[in-house]
Amino acid sequence: MFSYRHAFHAGNHADVLKHITLVATLRHLMRKDAPLTLIDTHAGAGIYRLDGGAAQTSGEALAGIARLQAIDAADPATAPALADYLRLIASFNAGGAAVARVYPGSPLLMHALMSEPARPPVHDRLRLFELHPTDAQALEAHVAQLNAGRQVGVARQDGFEALKALLPPPASAGGSRRALVLIDPSYEIKSDYARVAAALQDSLKRFATGVYLIWYPIIPRPEAHALPRRLKTLANQAGRGWLHATLSIGAAPLAAGSAASARATGQPVPRPGLLASGMFVVNPPHRLDTGLQEALPQVLHALGRERGRGFTVEASG
Ligand code: SAM
Repeated sequence: MFSYRHAFHAGNHADVLKHITLVATLRHLMRKDAPLTLIDTHAGAGIYRLDGGAAQTSGEALAGIARLQAIDAADPATAPALADYLRLIASFNAGGAAVARVYPGSPLLMHALMSEPARPPVHDRLRLFELHPTDAQALEAHVAQLNAGRQVGVARQDGFEALKALLPPPASAGGSRRALVLIDPSYEIKSDYARVAAALQDSLKRFATGVYLIWYPIIPRPEAHALPRRLKTLANQAGRGWLHATLSIGAAPLAAGSAASARATGQPVPRPGLLASGMFVVNPPHRLDTGLQEALPQVLHALGRERGRGFTVEASG
C-alpha cells in the first residue's frame, strides 16, 4: 500500500483518456444551471510538475500530453472534445510555454470547469478524497490556494467508504439532485477491482441517476479483464445506460535487438509499462460516444506508436 504516486504517471496516455472523458462529460452536465455535486474518490495530489522530479524520471508525460501539444486546439479539424481538453491544460500553463510545465489532475480540472465565468452562478460542490499522506498534504495545499471556501472539501479518507455518505447528493433549491463521481483507484491492491464494482453497485442503489466514471488499467490480470464486464452487468441490472472506451497506445518500437542484448548481458529486459486503459461511464451524456469517436483517433495519431495501437468506444443500446 502507498507505493503508488501519481506524479510519475500524470499526463500519460491513461490520464489523457480519463481526462478527455471527464471534461467532455462535465461540460455536458454544466449546460444545465442546476448545481452539481462532484466527487473524486481517489483524487491524487491535484496538480503535478512536468519539468522535473517524478515526471522526468518516468518520461510518461513526454510520451503522453507533450505529444498532444503539437495539435492546434483552434484548428476546426481538431475534435471538439480534444480541443476543449487541450485548452484547459493550456490554461494551467499560461505564458505560452510550448510544452506543458504543469499537468492538472482531476480535482483541479473539475474545479476549473465549475469556476469558469460561463458557468451560471450556482453552488457546485467538489468533494475530494486521498489516502496517501504526502499526496493528501499536497492536495490540501493546492486546494487552499484556490480560495474556494466550503465549495471544495478535502479529506484523508478512504474514498470508497466516503462515497456512501455523499449519495444521494443534497437537493438544490429547485429540487434537483445531480452528481458526478470519478472513481480512479491506483489498483495497487488486488481488492480495488472488487471494491470498484461494489462501490458502483451500492451507489446505483443510493442514487441511480448519478453519472459514474470509472478508470481501470488494461493489464494481463484476471481481475482487470473481468472488471468492465462486471460493470456492464451492474449498469444493465440497474437499467442504466453505459459507455465503455479504451485506448491502447501499442508497444514503443524497441531499439533493434535491445531485449536480446539485455538478456545476453544479464541486464534487466526493458519493460513496456502500461500500454492500455479503459473508462467506463454509467449514465453517460448524450453524444459522449460520438465525441470520443472523433477525439481518440486524433489522440492516437499524435501519440505516434505503431504495433497494437487502437481505441474502442462501445455504448449500451
Ligand atoms: N484521480 C487523479 C487524477 O486523475 O488526477 C489520480 C488518482 S491516482 C490514479 C489514485 C490515487 O488514489 C493515489 O493518489 C492513491 O494514493 C489514492 N488512493 C489509493 N487508495 C485510496 C483509497 N482507498 N481512498 C482514497 N485514495 C486512495
